[in-house]
Amino acid sequence: MGAGYDLELVNLTKRYGDTLAVDGIDYHFKAGHYVCLLGPSGCGKSSTLRMIAGHESVSSGSVVLDGFDVSHLPPAKRGTAMMFQNYALFPHLSVRDNVAFSLRMKGIDKAARHKKANELLELVDMTKYADRLPAQLSGGQQQRVALARALVTQPKILLLDEPLSALDPFLRIRMRAELKKLQRELGITFIHVTHGQDEALALGDELVVMNNAVIEQAGRARDVWAAPRTEFVARFMGGHNVINLAGSKVALRADDVIVGQEGMAATVSAVEYQGGHVALTTKTETGEEVLALVPEGHFFESPKNPGDAVRLAWDEGRLHRLQA
Ligand code: ADP
Ligand code: MG
Repeated sequence: MGAGYDLELVNLTKRYGDTLAVDGIDYHFKAGHYVCLLGPSGCGKSSTLRMIAGHESVSSGSVVLDGFDVSHLPPAKRGTAMMFQNYALFPHLSVRDNVAFSLRMKGIDKAARHKKANELLELVDMTKYADRLPAQLSGGQQQRVALARALVTQPKILLLDEPLSALDPFLRIRMRAELKKLQRELGITFIHVTHGQDEALALGDELVVMNNAVIEQAGRARDVWAAPRTEFVARFMGGHNVINLAGSKVALRADDVIVGQEGMAATVSAVEYQGGHVALTTKTETGEEVLALVPEGHFFESPKNPGDAVRLAWDEGRLHRLQA
């Protein structure tokens, strides 16, 4: 399957009546990346994905694929494929016929489409289930079939809308490793929508964080996590405190808070053992909540309980000023 295509969104906008679901976003997805599009429910992720796929019309702006404006092309003519949240497999068709379905629609003969479907089933390790019906498969297996079905058209960009949300937590972690491996093998762009920051960090080479119909921040996963630009991103990505210091808002990583003999006075409000570290929620004298992640060895040298007085310190250089 050939290399990917660059994808550019230019002032892309979606309105449903009075609802502005996507508000003029601009973004350049470079070929061959695993990109996670994340943000809270209702922020416009699915609408964006569906406009890229052609399952939703654009209200204004354009979708440019490999230099061509595809905004008004039907889905099958774009070089994209979409894997839906609920897999949407045909219950009365075998696994092989589900995978071959879009080839049948294109009028490809049975022998050729079965050959192609078998190749894809091999790719997702589902060869031995080819003759089963979807109802005879587990959730993870159905998901692999849905992936094979999306990939059978040899898309340049695979669009995945919350592909792991129907799986139990254990399987979700296993399937995300499989998705990542598949993307590397195919070398095409995956755009994966999720509302989970852990999933986005685990998978995305690049993150695009949306909020209220716009892109709030985008960049390499580590950069977005380590250097959130806004309070929203700091809070949404987690692991950060947002505190008011001398009139401006700063982000401070919870693992950079030092609980000791010096610094700001605070009272412990909750203690949660998390294995490698202990999460200590505290309240300062000015009423701000500050979370400290303390390495467990260090914590148990002098354990704290709710109600205890503590002092909080940090290295000034670790404070990260947020945009107002
Ligand atoms: P997300 O995928 O981030 O949860 P969506 O793109 O599904 O967000 O929705 C963005 C906004 O558009 C929401 O306010 C949602 O209610 C609205 N919306 C989505 N689809 C439709 C639709 N078909 N008709 C009307 N409003 C819609
Ligand atoms: Mg959605």
